[in-house]
Amino acid sequence: MPRRATKIVATLGPASSDPALLEAMIQAGVNVVRLNFSHGKAQDHIDRATLVRAAAQRAGREVAIMADLQGPKIRVGKFADGKVMLEPGMKFVLDASRAEPGDINGVGLDYKELPRDVKAGDVLLLNDGLIVLTVDEVKGEQVRTTVKLGGELSNNKGINKQGGGLTAPALTAKDMEDIRTAMGFQADYVAVSFPKNATDMEMARQLCNVAGAEHRHKPGLIAKIERAEAIPHLEAILKASDGIMVARGDLAVEVGNAAVPALQKRMIRMARQHDKVVITATQMMESMITNPVPTRAEVSDVANAVLDGTDAVMLSAETAAGKYPLETVLEMAKICEAAEGAEHVELDADFTGERFDRIDQTIAMGALFTAHHLGAKAIVALTDSGSTPLWMSRHRIHIPIYALTPKLTTQRKMALYRNVRPLLMDTSADRDTALEQAEGHLKKRGIVTRGDVYAITCGEPMGAPGGTNMLKICQVA
Ligand code: PGA
Ligand code: MN
Repeated sequence: MPRRATKIVATLGPASSDPALLEAMIQAGVNVVRLNFSHGKAQDHIDRATLVRAAAQRAGREVAIMADLQGPKIRVGKFADGKVMLEPGMKFVLDASRAEPGDINGVGLDYKELPRDVKAGDVLLLNDGLIVLTVDEVKGEQVRTTVKLGGELSNNKGINKQGGGLTAPALTAKDMEDIRTAMGFQADYVAVSFPKNATDMEMARQLCNVAGAEHRHKPGLIAKIERAEAIPHLEAILKASDGIMVARGDLAVEVGNAAVPALQKRMIRMARQHDKVVITATQMMESMITNPVPTRAEVSDVANAVLDGTDAVMLSAETAAGKYPLETVLEMAKICEAAEGAEHVELDADFTGERFDRIDQTIAMGALFTAHHLGAKAIVALTDSGSTPLWMSRHRIHIPIYALTPKLTTQRKMALYRNVRPLLMDTSADRDTALEQAEGHLKKRGIVTRGDVYAITCGEPMGAPGGTNMLKICQVA
């Protein structure tokens, strides 16, 4: 069992689709594999999911699969020559009615609504903000602009509006189809791109539930926070989701780079307060796409996300298309461990003045408090739905939480929770037998040995979700 508490999400792509390499990456610390539905066809994702499950099995680890929907990525069309070079001061027309390929004067739009969403004076950012256009006027289907910041613009690059305000719905027809595909292979998480508000997440939830019903599957839902409009609705979005992603790539384009670090801290804090998970994403180890070692700044960035309290740090192109996917995972795991070692635990302060109105949640807090003050070796939770370990993992503590569950889907979901080591164990219906079995399981894995003290929670009667009502402190005989 790894000592690391922070989880690693790695995006699968051509650079990581070799079965042996993927197995090595999982061994090295990948906890969640992200399938990026912005690329590839349905069958590619189905094949990749099979690949992930097989590699995880060979590695002897359970990993979660996160299906990341493309969403309404708002893009320019294609160019006759594949790209153009824009220079400052040039005029450039984004034309929703244009059918022929683009050239130096203008280009068509994948997103036909753009002329309705912008007005003179607006600032458009293309290709993740590398190109900046200001809108001179909107004429019919044409958005006429002047290039402020030039550069190479190639086929299907994304468009953002500074400050937000593009009205595209979060779930496209393609996303709905992709949800069906993802439920077919029981994706543990579905990430929704560009949600504006809680309604977008509720809609995604319904679609997942309907598509998942025939597979008797309910995924966790992650809201990617990457639109300026989502920020004022963060609390409602959190309530409608199982977690959020600090999607710094698109977010930085909309709100400006400088605003992102503070937003990251706020989002992580709020997610934990609402008992939700949080992933910090994009450009964390960017230079390792081409270099075998990260920059000092990247090391600090990953470490700071860990200190902010993120559940997971994410790799995108680093593992999907980079030269050093395995090295990146190893390096990231090392940085997380070192940062966790430096983390300050102030557990009691979290509870002072708190009131808990649920029995199971109170037991979870009681286990943390007791284990912390007793210096226990481990915290153990017998869990059905995973909610007890989730509550426990919302607080900073240096004692590992072992979550024993009879459900494979729960085990996989918990792969994302910070400081939770999910294990599969069939529990007996009889409480005392179940507690004995749990200790046997922990001893067999070398997690506890003779003399060790651990705290364990369970529910009585056993096996009822949400029924945790018992805390026992044990010393291994
Ligand atoms: P993406 O989302 O990689 O799908 O664009 C993450 C981000 O925008 O940071
Ligand atoms: Mn994005």
